[in-house]
This record gives sequence, structure tokens and C-alpha cells, in this order.
Amino acid sequence: MQFDTVVIGGGLAGLSCAIRLAEQGQRCAVVSAGQSALYFSSGSLDLLAQLPDGTSVASPLSALSDLAQQAPQHPYSLIGATQVAALATEAEQLLQRCGVQMQGSSERNHLRVTPLGIRRATWLSPEAVPVSPLGGTLPWQNIAVLGIEGFLDFQPQMAASALIQELGVTAEVAFMHLPILDRLRNNPSEFRAVNIARVLDLPEHLAELAEEVKRQAGEAEAIFLPACLGLESDEPLQALRQATGKVICLLPTLPPSVLGMRLHQALRQRFQQLGGEFMPGDSVLQASFDGHRITGLYTRNHTDIPLRAEQVVLASGSFFSNGLVAAFDGIREPVFGLDVFSKTERADWCHPDLFASQPYLQFGVRTDHCLRALKQGEAIVNLYAIGAVTGGYDPLQQGCGAGVSLIGALHVAQQILAQEKSA
Ligand SMILES: Cc1cc2nc3c(=O)[nH]c(=O)nc-3n(C[C@H](O)[C@H](O)[C@H](O)COP(=O)(O)OP(=O)(O)OC[C@H]3O[C@@H](n4cnc5c(N)ncnc54)[C@H](O)[C@@H]3O)c2cc1C
Repeated sequence: MQFDTVVIGGGLAGLSCAIRLAEQGQRCAVVSAGQSALYFSSGSLDLLAQLPDGTSVASPLSALSDLAQQAPQHPYSLIGATQVAALATEAEQLLQRCGVQMQGSSERNHLRVTPLGIRRATWLSPEAVPVSPLGGTLPWQNIAVLGIEGFLDFQPQMAASALIQELGVTAEVAFMHLPILDRLRNNPSEFRAVNIARVLDLPEHLAELAEEVKRQAGEAEAIFLPACLGLESDEPLQALRQATGKVICLLPTLPPSVLGMRLHQALRQRFQQLGGEFMPGDSVLQASFDGHRITGLYTRNHTDIPLRAEQVVLASGSFFSNGLVAAFDGIREPVFGLDVFSKTERADWCHPDLFASQPYLQFGVRTDHCLRALKQGEAIVNLYAIGAVTGGYDPLQQGCGAGVSLIGALHVAQQILAQEKSA
């Protein structure tokens, strides 16, 4: 099993890196143990929304020099401001090549409406999500927020009351009665956004859905629905907009996230269309080394047959995806035993105030400026680490999770391709 590059982890970081490499003709494999963070995400992608000192960021690219001073170990600080700016544009183009329609730009954050009806600064949002400019307001005064009878993963009352309070708009709440969902509704554990989307996406259900949306929304200028539509593409939403003649937007629900899954599927499809090898349900367990070079990767499914590659990219995610493990005696990166940013005392891992910035969110693999992973202070020459497995930043407080994944992925792909050229 010989590849140019093997990527460990098929989330946003791993797939983006693999796509870029495959686009340039590399023979590339992605080994992916389980679901990625995208399945649980809002579907919007953050670049940089706040500096570590709490200053809000309007223009992410202009804030990179302040970030480098406050957080010299942040992946953006390692990569460098000029390169981050160039790669942010490249990331937007890569998403377009995957057929993902996003709104927003790295020049200036925008505000997306969350399921709680408040607004949060971000970089790119799916076209379906309602957004406003920073410091601006939504383009509608009269909004209908519709729930689905019996669906508990989206609470329209909460969204509507926050919209009224924060923006001074009129926001009416109603619940759609949809008999086409009765069979699903009978089993509450099945009545989730993804399963609902599988039913509502069927063209034969469009007329019933459109009729009910129009009935419940009355004269509202815009209608906000839970994101239970368009699992595979934008088409069902476009068809509903056309059938109702209304402005219809989607708000994320509790996971699983239809908007995040669609992004994941688009990336995976693009990678496979480019001839990439995607190995779902397999996990890399260990590696063989020759000095500071990896010579083979051993996986659960391929047992003693190693995957061999010139370059290896670790994109195994954070604690959430088992890319990092919190053991009693410390934080570990389980595949290679890499150096990690962490704190020795367990008591220092968490802040007692739940809403404060949590130290453990900054834990992760240490890298050099090229994002090569460090082990006992030395770079492993053919191992890069990208995305949530890396440390030195707080994706939640700084609002930079997806940006770190995408920009790190493209930075590493660029170096791997340059090395291949010069070899
Ligand atoms: C619940 C949640 C919600 C988030 N929502 C947002 C959001 O809305 N916007 C935003 O910008 N950021 C969000 N983030 C931040 C998020 O971390 C990044 O945006 C990004 O999606 C992380 O991608 P990743 O590829 O680095 O890791 P992940 O998406 O975690 O993917 C890692 C993958 O590696 C696999 N893996 C792990 N170990 C192995 C192994 N040994 N062998 C093979 N495969 C392995 C895992 O199964 C997983 O599929 C969220 C994070 C979490 C945890």
C-alpha cells in the first residue's frame, strides 16, 4: 500500500489537505476513524473573531500582527500573516471547487444568526443561513420562526425572543404540522434533523411542505426554519423558495448538523472524484520509524500490512475525535506520542468558571513553523500536524477553529508539493 501522502483523519483539515494534494496529482489516502467535528458544527467557518485579550476582531487579516504578539504559538503566528492571508483566499476557492456555496470574506467578519437567535461573528456561512454585516442589522423587519411539531432539537421561541430583544424586529413563532413526518415522529430518538431532511428533501413532499410553510408564516417577509432540509445539496431549499415565493433561511439545529454534514460530504466527494483513497472506519494505531522519518503506518483494518508514504499528515482532531487523549497522568497524542502543549497539574486543565476560556482547549501537538510535528523537541521530517490536534490556540474563545484547519491544511499541502518538485 504505497502512497505519496497518507492523511490521518477525514475532518475539515485532513480532507482539505488531501484535496489540494490530489488536485496536484498526488496519490493520496485518507484514513478516518469516525465522524468529524463538522457533523456537530454550525456549518459556518470561523477565521478569527476575538484576540486572546478579549478584543473583538472585525477584519481577521488586519488582526494577525496583534495575534502574533499575544499568541506566538498560535498556528497563524507560526505560518505568518502574509501566508495566512494568501491561504484564506485559496481556502475560499477550494470550497467553491467543491461546489460549496458560502457567503462572507476574510476581509471582514459578518454576523450569523445562531439557533438561540443571537448573532455571532464568523468568516464564511452557508448561503442558506441568515446573516448581517458587522454593526448592521438583518434586511427584514417581520420574521416568522417556524418549528416542526415534536422536533426538540430546535426551539423557535428561544430564537424569536432573542431576535426581538436584540434587533427590535417582529418575530412570530409557529409550528408546522407535517403528516409526512408522522412515521419518524413515532420514534423520538429517530426524530432528528438528518432523518427529517431525508424525508423533506424528497421532491414528492415539496408541495405539502410549501403549503404548510405558507400557511404558518402568514405575511412575514422572511421565514427561518430549522436546518432539516438539503442534506445532499441546496436544491430542496431553492425549490421551497420557488414554490412559496418567500425568503426562506435555515438556522442550525442541535447535532447532527445537516449544514455541517453537507460540507463534509462535498469535501469527501471532491477528494474521491480526484481519485483519492478514502478509508472510513479505519484508524491508524502506530508507526514504524527510521530515525526521525516515518517508514510505515499500521491501521486497525490493515493489521500487519503497513501503509507506506513519502509524507504523513496528522489531522486527527482534538479530544472530541480522540486525536488527543486525557489520561490520569497527562495529555497524550496517542498514535506517535508527540510533544503536546499542556499543563502538568490536572487542576490547571479547566477553569472553574464554565464560561471562562478553558485552558484544555489550547492543548495540542507542538509543531515547528512548517507545522512539522515535534517529538522530544525534534521535528519528525515527514510528519505534519494540522487542525484541531494542534495546540497553542483556543478555537472557541478566539473563534478560529475552521480557519486554523483550512489554512494549516493548505500551508502543509504547499510544502509537500514544493518538496516533491525539488526532489
Ligand atoms: C462539537 C464541535 C463543534 C464545532 N463547531 C465549529 C463551528 O461551527 N465553526 C468552526 O469554525 N469551528 C467549529 N469547531 C472547531 C473545529 O475543531 C474545527 O472547525 C474543525 O472542524 C476541526 O477539524 P479537524 O479536521 O482538525 O478535526 P475533526 O473534525 O475532529 O476530525 C478528525 C478526524 O480524525 C479521525 N481520527 C482520530 N484519530 C484517528 C486515527 N488514529 N486514525 C484515523 N482517524 C482518526 C476522527 O475520527 C475524525 O474523523 C467545532 C468543534 C467541535 C468539537
